[in-house]
Amino acid sequence: MADGDPPVKKQKLEIKDKNLHLFERCKKHKDTLCIALKELETWNLFGFCFVRLEQCNAAFSCCFTQAWCATLRHVEDEDVDEKNKKLVYFGSVLDVDVLKNFLNNQSKISKEQAKALEKLADSLDNIQEINKVLKEELENSDQSEVRWAVVCASHLLTSLAITNQMTVSDTGSPARFHQCPCASGCKKPIRVGDTSIGHKDVWHGSVDILLGPVAIVTSPEQELFAEGISTFELKMGNLEVGRHQLIAETIVFSHAQNSLGYKLGLVPTIALSKDRVKVFMYDPNKDLLYESVELPLFDDRNLSVSTVVALWLAINYIHFEAHVPASHTEFGYTANFRKALHDDKKMEIYRNKIRIGGCKQPSRTKPNLMGFSYGKLGWLDVKRKDDEVK
Ligand SMILES: [Zn+2]
Repeated sequence: MADGDPPVKKQKLEIKDKNLHLFERCKKHKDTLCIALKELETWNLFGFCFVRLEQCNAAFSCCFTQAWCATLRHVEDEDVDEKNKKLVYFGSVLDVDVLKNFLNNQSKISKEQAKALEKLADSLDNIQEINKVLKEELENSDQSEVRWAVVCASHLLTSLAITNQMTVSDTGSPARFHQCPCASGCKKPIRVGDTSIGHKDVWHGSVDILLGPVAIVTSPEQELFAEGISTFELKMGNLEVGRHQLIAETIVFSHAQNSLGYKLGLVPTIALSKDRVKVFMYDPNKDLLYESVELPLFDDRNLSVSTVVALWLAINYIHFEAHVPASHTEFGYTANFRKALHDDKKMEIYRNKIRIGGCKQPSRTKPNLMGFSYGKLGWLDVKRKDDEVK
């Protein structure tokens, strides 16, 4: 490059060089990534369904552990036509085209997307090492779920995220890890602090981990994710108890992000168990609540690259234009949060007063659990969901 090049031209050439280097790095993983992207777009194990709230205690001052909500998924709703009982794919909500186009022809990407792609390339280069740390951790049978979440976040989730802002909750668990507690002894410093979200007059409490604009929560019980391998084979019991809390956290966290102006639209909350992850997303403007199927963290002995890419998209969602497509809005299976809340004053709180930090207070009013019905939750087996909702 000539010394006399004007600064803008020089900058453009530098970006081009950087992107070329990034392209070469990603090309190394192209085959694996193409398979993962195909799965995210076509395989029914990487889908979302829509969730509707029938009743909930969101109008009460209560913490997440006391949150409940009777919900119905569109795939189990008798009023929804059979042809519409299908999942929508990750690729239709989280933009997989950026990565696909980049891998195919080095299409233009933003500075942030380039950073995110670098993180993905780094993670794939080191996937064996990450896998080893996580597997070692899992072999340590007496470790708590919080410890697992911290190790998982510290080694996998932060390695995928552009942000390095990770805070682990300073409440709830007796163990507060100021260093990564992994069995491999990396001792990476961990920031412990206030991860509370909500408002004292409505749902509130601490999520386990805040990773930039994403909330990460662990399963309250090990059986959070049902034992079945696939999709929405859920049964009442532990799963549903934990799921109420996850849905409350998802709705509150999305309101927080939206009212703070970080992101207008869909905001994800990631739920972690020891071998699976689940992504919930809520858009308060469109009032659409998405619940993913359970994504296996491991394929046999190794980390699932498809799940890693799904997590990478969800964690960096701000830079990949996560949005509700028109077809999903037209489908009309809204969460009905306002209706389930049944209190316009409290709705105002959700719209304008939800905050991050400073709402760790315990519940002041016990929720009214009388008359609560679980609705139609129960066994269900969605046999085929190969197409998106049109
Ligand atoms: Zn570690």
